Amino acid sequence: MTDTKIIDKEYVANTYNRFPVEIVSGKGSYVYDADGKEYIDMGSGIGVTSFGIADDEWQKAITEQLSKVQHMSNLYYTQPCANLAKALCEKTGMKKVFFSNSGAESNECAIKVARKYAADKKGAEYSTIITLVNSFHGRTLTTLSATGQEHYHELFQPLTPGFVHTPANDLEALIKVANQNKTAGIMMEIIQGEGGVLPLEAEFVKGVAKFAKENDIVLIIDEVQTGNGRTGELYAYMNYGINPDVVSTAKGIGGGLPLGATMLGEKVESVLGFGDHGSTFGGNPVCCAGALTIINRLDEKLLNEVKEKSKYVFSQFENLDGVEEVCGLGLMIGIKPSKKTAAEVLKACMDNGVLCLTAKDKVRLLPALNIPMEALEKAVSVIKKAITE
Ligand SMILES: *Cc1c(COP(=O)(O)O)cnc(C)c1O
Repeated sequence: MTDTKIIDKEYVANTYNRFPVEIVSGKGSYVYDADGKEYIDMGSGIGVTSFGIADDEWQKAITEQLSKVQHMSNLYYTQPCANLAKALCEKTGMKKVFFSNSGAESNECAIKVARKYAADKKGAEYSTIITLVNSFHGRTLTTLSATGQEHYHELFQPLTPGFVHTPANDLEALIKVANQNKTAGIMMEIIQGEGGVLPLEAEFVKGVAKFAKENDIVLIIDEVQTGNGRTGELYAYMNYGINPDVVSTAKGIGGGLPLGATMLGEKVESVLGFGDHGSTFGGNPVCCAGALTIINRLDEKLLNEVKEKSKYVFSQFENLDGVEEVCGLGLMIGIKPSKKTAAEVLKACMDNGVLCLTAKDKVRLLPALNIPMEALEKAVSVIKKAITE
């Protein structure tokens, strides 16, 4: 073990079962460990480094901003924050953005918005937030309560009240639960990421959007993992032609620095007033300067490349012996091996210089959106081998 591993094991809280690899540098879709071994990065730090490691354009923007001002708090105006909010609104049609530092926080804001909207409009007893079974919305106590997976809840009672979970793709059940409760909002991921890369059925998504609209319930789409070009559209909900009231995102928007964004549509744009919400770091100028270089590059051409690369990966794994199922959208892909566990495949890939992720019983791929075709082909051949041999 290197010194880093020994020190980490002794002093860093024991919450992560890390792989025995210390990454020291990288460029684009390639990273290098402390022994100088090269890996193709098919995980992008869990869908965060949208344009890869140490991406030139992103790096230039953040270092330029670093040399001007790194932080001023939200007591003052700073240009990157304003410009990023403008870019997000112009590209999505949303009206306002609240910035935070993580996915959990972007969902916390979304939940606060839904509750305040309902309280203002219908009364404070309208506080229930409906989420889906098998969802993942974060690790804070409230977003944990929103997360529809019991095993995360067990050790941390009592949870924040007011969350009800209903099965994905069962519109009737959702409507029943919404009517049985005084419902403020419905929150869901378009593709359940941590839950196993499971896309929702289009009919269900459209049905939920219609029901929420008719009943003046705030529709929140959690795009923390699916957002920012990941699925081949700017945001995954755009694949389904719906108009959510709130879109929360994080992970890939910052390109590697911590940034969360909660986008507010017309219905809820004025719900939060002075003092209703806040964040010391939220909208940090360095993070926002980097994020602008990410958002500005998510154009038609880049998104089409994501779709093309997606098609390629699907074509390589569908009907492959040893693969039970391939699922996902864009460059958010889950592969279920039939003869090995996902962990065994991961280990074999790592030995052969490819870093992947898992999600439940699947191998999960979230490569950089601009991964070179050559790196992608090489990684795919290593993963195929790991699955079949
Ligand atoms: C990762 C994730 C979160 C939590 O994000 P953090 O930045 O870890 O707080 C929330 N929702 C979804 C869908 C995620 O994938």
